[in-house]
Amino acid sequence: MIATELLIGGKPVPGEGDPLVVENPYTESELATVALPSPEQVDAAVAAARDAAKGWATTPAIERCELLHEVAARMRARTDELAELMTKEGGKPLVENSDEVGWTAAAFDYYAEMGRNFAGRVIPSIESTQLSLVLKEPMGVVACIVPWNYPLLLLSWKLAPALAAGNTVVAKPSELTPLSTLALAECFEHLPPGVVNLLAGDGRIGEAIVSDDRVDCVAFTGSVETGKKIAHICADRVARINLELGGKDPFIVCPDVAPAIDVAARGGAWAAFLNAGQVCTSAERFYVLEPVFDDYLQAFVDYTNSLVVGDPLDANTDIGPLVSARQRDRVAAQVDAAVAAGADVVTGGGPGGNGTGYFYAPTVVTGAPAETDLLREETFGPVAPLVRVKSLDEAIELANSTRFGLGANVYTKDLDTILRCMREIKAGTLWFNDPLTDNDAGPFGGMKQSGFGRELGQEGLEAFQETKHVHLETSLAPKEWWYPYGGGSSQPKGA
Ligand code: NAD
Repeated sequence: MIATELLIGGKPVPGEGDPLVVENPYTESELATVALPSPEQVDAAVAAARDAAKGWATTPAIERCELLHEVAARMRARTDELAELMTKEGGKPLVENSDEVGWTAAAFDYYAEMGRNFAGRVIPSIESTQLSLVLKEPMGVVACIVPWNYPLLLLSWKLAPALAAGNTVVAKPSELTPLSTLALAECFEHLPPGVVNLLAGDGRIGEAIVSDDRVDCVAFTGSVETGKKIAHICADRVARINLELGGKDPFIVCPDVAPAIDVAARGGAWAAFLNAGQVCTSAERFYVLEPVFDDYLQAFVDYTNSLVVGDPLDANTDIGPLVSARQRDRVAAQVDAAVAAGADVVTGGGPGGNGTGYFYAPTVVTGAPAETDLLREETFGPVAPLVRVKSLDEAIELANSTRFGLGANVYTKDLDTILRCMREIKAGTLWFNDPLTDNDAGPFGGMKQSGFGRELGQEGLEAFQETKHVHLETSLAPKEWWYPYGGGSSQPKGA
């Protein structure tokens, strides 16, 4: 049975607000209906998190560590059930969802250890009679607002470090994929009541949580437009924010990879079509150097045509449907606009699949003018526009030409090229010859309008910690720089 209850104050409770119908994007039929929280229930969830904050903050880090490892173990034990549910509500192929559950659990294991390993540092004091500490403390209540494309993973990148740092949480998944998040309630049963609260709903519920004065920090993943709204709301009350926003990642292919052009093409196609292109770090613009362009295009198209589009629950499926009709129509409109401006569709360019489902066939486009949205704004669909460039200079300039700076990929083994790309491309993550691989220990996030702050790694823990400097003097002797100044004062050392 599909769980549709909210988790408030440690108790599963049915929502008392409007119904939300969750659709299966492959069958286009209703999967479940979730009763959304009433305003009173949103209030109760924040209140529960607030009430639990002090107890959780003072729980010894080693105990929090053990409890978070237990969360990970419970998730792993339910991999098949969770992956199937995620596939039904989001349309991502089953294998990708099984992987996602594993990565989600891994984030809890990683931060369980990180949280008991770091609470600040000791810095040199001004005088030998003193001790100076930099304390890292919990912020209090953290709101986690996440999108639909990786509902559990992106939640874990917030939830796990926030809890490990001693915060309590109110989380809200996307209105398109609430079920897998609500199904997690059992994984948190062993935590003190109120430490994790799970709600559901659209932007209105999200805004109510984000606007609540009792919420100290908002960790958000989603579109640039929603991120800006949240930033405005939080700026007004100087609440902390961590924003992971959209991307338009470039993918540069250099001539020295000619002997392995098939590998670079497979890597490119995977980076463009993974989760039907609905990845914030999808490769969305390919800048291919002139000498290898034709061979790369041929290999890319051949490989694309070999991919299996179909039922996401089928183990042979490479690419499932998009998450919604709206998302598919947005992708189609962007491709159609590029074609109207002179681009050519080499393969794909229309509905894939066969029968029901919000499919868009994996598509390769050439000749799109640089000013089209297909090369400037996020597509979030299985579309790979390939652009022929004359030089590395041109490739780097184009790579840096949008308002985004999330990730970037380069295929080359040439050391000079690697160093130039590493230094000159404005992106939070740079992948050379291995697209899109995440590492829990490596900070993830965007430059420019792709975001603010970082998730994962040490940075991802500190994103949920306040910093306090403690200056401790052990001597009660008066200081020579105090009043009266008439006696010849001097400033403290280091001032
Ligand atoms: P979205 O911005 O529409 O929604 C994201 C979440 O915010 C949802 O839970 C939604 O209900 C909520 N929300 C909407 N309006 C809100 C408001 N006013 N106040 C508070 N919450 C509100 O994004 P989406 O369509 O769900 O996801 C796709 C976007 O997410 C893409 O732009 C993609 O690039 C981005 N994304 C970024 C990353 C990253 O790490 N940088 C990762 C995955 C997805």
